[in-house]
Amino acid sequence: MKDKCGIVGIHSKDSSKDVSSYIYYGLHALQHRGQESAGIATYSDNGNGLKHYCGMGLVADVFKDNQIDELNGEVGIGHVRYSTTGQSKLESSQPFITTFDDFVIAIAHNGDIINSKHLRKELIDEGYEFISDTDSEVLCYLIKREYENSKTNDMVEILENISEILLGSYSLVILVNEDIYAMRDPAGMKPLVIAEKDDFYIVASETVAFDVMGANFIRDFEPGEIVYFKDNKINSHIVKKAKTCQKAHCMFEYVYFARPDSVIDGKTVYQVRLNIGKELYKEFPIDADVVMPVPDSSIPAAIGYSRASGIPYGEGLIKNRYVGRTFIMPTQEERELAVKLKMNPLVSELKDKKIVLIDDSIVRGTTSESLIEILKEAGAKEIHLMIGCPPVIAPCYYGVAMASKDELVAANNTVDEIKEKLGVDSLGYISLDALIDSIGISSEDLCLGCVNEDYPTEIPKDLEVETYYKF
Ligand code: SF4
Repeated sequence: MKDKCGIVGIHSKDSSKDVSSYIYYGLHALQHRGQESAGIATYSDNGNGLKHYCGMGLVADVFKDNQIDELNGEVGIGHVRYSTTGQSKLESSQPFITTFDDFVIAIAHNGDIINSKHLRKELIDEGYEFISDTDSEVLCYLIKREYENSKTNDMVEILENISEILLGSYSLVILVNEDIYAMRDPAGMKPLVIAEKDDFYIVASETVAFDVMGANFIRDFEPGEIVYFKDNKINSHIVKKAKTCQKAHCMFEYVYFARPDSVIDGKTVYQVRLNIGKELYKEFPIDADVVMPVPDSSIPAAIGYSRASGIPYGEGLIKNRYVGRTFIMPTQEERELAVKLKMNPLVSELKDKKIVLIDDSIVRGTTSESLIEILKEAGAKEIHLMIGCPPVIAPCYYGVAMASKDELVAANNTVDEIKEKLGVDSLGYISLDALIDSIGISSEDLCLGCVNEDYPTEIPKDLEVETYYKF
């Protein structure tokens, strides 16, 4: 299961201040949200206009020192990408750039516009020529079309109008010449936060981007909020659609995607994961020698279980953090090899021990199967697997690369059957109520679609995915 993307946008209040290195460090802090490509676009009023550079790979590999220097500008946006819509290739990297009339526009997008195929076809029929298969290019041309049709150059009005036809999840930062506009979708599915540092206003996917810059967090974006910076102050507009739209913050941001040191919609992700561990102990009190996480995202939940139970916390799997993507491995044997490459067992901590192993989720079950095999080979006496999210029984239609229903182990097997498949001594999934309590946000304001099939919107069975959702 992979997350979408990370975005950063910085507006300098003082036209002599360069934002490029801050964007670079912000992207570093958001690297966990996408490792396939990285890009920065900046704009300078001093005659240099737009500068733009994207590349495949990690932030540190894409940008060398001189590239950051060359990207100097007083406003800018950045993006790290994991492909959900569009293939993994340089043309699909962001920010995506377009120009028309006096406008130079760059867009960085986190989420999935689920009717983008339909919108793309509409735009192609109207004569727009696409060079990539991304949602961001669709957004660029929608802005252009709206500008031409409505004869307004008021970007807030343009975005308000576009929000009426966009279906799906999106957090956006848009550079329009020397101005930045940022927007969160009307259901608030993807996180987006705002901060201030001396001469800068900063927006980003997660608060960790502010910590690295030494910026002060101001607040989360409201669902459907457009923020722009004019006269060196924060200006805000809530799109009409937000008034009729149910809030639906993605539950998985708390369970797995976001960094534990981020705060999303008022909730510290680390604390949520500690709570999950405590709740797991309440629901499944196991007598064991040690509590261990599947690193890294499950570490706080394992600490929570350990604190609640009094069972020592330990590490039995050591993660090799330098291994890249492995999910494209075609055979089970290769996937097992890939898991072994990522996780090495610490035999001295595992041999003859009764273990509570905490993981955030089970999707296909193949990774869990390989991990359990590794622990058994290392001599673990008993393995009790505790999962910090209820069974994932349905796919995500909102931009999380997960799996189809056929591939989801919990959609096709009972908990007992999964326990047998994995070969563990016991298997416990946190209940939905305990998960909601752990997050501390009303279930009505969360998206829980992949665990209870209660998506924020109705899903007519006979429709194409891009026409399912009407926010
Ligand atoms: S379906 Fe699941 S992964 Fe997708 S947005 Fe909703 S909670 Fe998040």
